[in-house]
Amino acid sequence: MNLLKIEGLRVFFRSGDKIVKANNSIDLEVTDNEIIGIIGETGSGKSILGRAIMTLLSENTEISGKIIYRGEDLLSLSESRLRSIRGKSIGIILQNPSAALNPVLSIGDQITEIFRYHEGMSKQEARIRTAGILEMVGIDPDRMGEFPHQFSGGMKQRIMIAMGMAFSPELLIADEPTKGLDPETKDNIVNLLRDLVRSKNMSLILITHDLDVAEKMCDRIAVMYAGEIIEMASISNILAEPRHPYTQVLLASLPDKGLKSIPGESPGLSSLPSGCRFNPRCIYATDKCKKDHPAMLLTEIGTDVRCFLYDGGQD
Ligand code: SF4
Repeated sequence: MNLLKIEGLRVFFRSGDKIVKANNSIDLEVTDNEIIGIIGETGSGKSILGRAIMTLLSENTEISGKIIYRGEDLLSLSESRLRSIRGKSIGIILQNPSAALNPVLSIGDQITEIFRYHEGMSKQEARIRTAGILEMVGIDPDRMGEFPHQFSGGMKQRIMIAMGMAFSPELLIADEPTKGLDPETKDNIVNLLRDLVRSKNMSLILITHDLDVAEKMCDRIAVMYAGEIIEMASISNILAEPRHPYTQVLLASLPDKGLKSIPGESPGLSSLPSGCRFNPRCIYATDKCKKDHPAMLLTEIGTDVRCFLYDGGQD
């Protein structure tokens, strides 16, 4: 059985008088002990996908489809059942530690609260567990009484990893865990996260705009563009033989493999073009591409791709 299976997920929400189509027709499977990367430019919908899996979306969100975790559809569960899954079975490392950590509470208090909330531990027990996970991520437990502003960006990210992994969840979602870090700190965080996930036989969904990070960590990659997955393959296939024109341009414009902008602009999620969403920027676009929306197709090398170039000329 898959650990996680997402079927036909749509996430829409209203912003002013516009409908933002953040995720559309998302199909994705995650197996045990797998690290899968969700990559894409800012505004491609990848962070919304992570929050949808955690069922952490705002109330004005319209969500449909299925998010099946260990046989249960998360979208049909009660809030109390979801609370027992979040954090303990599915953990999340939120983007931007400076915003995610409470500035007026010590690190120790923020982490012990997690243990007390989920497992009803005494303060003493929770502090012992907190010391253990701080040590696990390379932070001296004696710093437990310090506040977030007393830690560097890399250290704050380690604290976020500690919080996300507090219960060794079998699935972890990490949203841009290396964003804003200098190259050396980034490498340290990549190594730490990958080694912890592998040693604990967890699965990881890594949401990133950084292909270099994805290459170092992931088994498979799903490329998102304008709210949908447009290519999905093993990391080796993506790097050696990208199939979708967007992925090809993306890789070709990466001297150092940090995603850079490519000619043209991504469409806004509230003003998507008809037909293939990439058609205004695609050098291969035909009239059909401007009119019809391509479905995901399996290519001969085992890559899934959403592009008419691979449909064998079918109408
Ligand atoms: Fe380009 Fe058409 Fe393929 Fe879209 S479907 S990526 S417009 S060739």
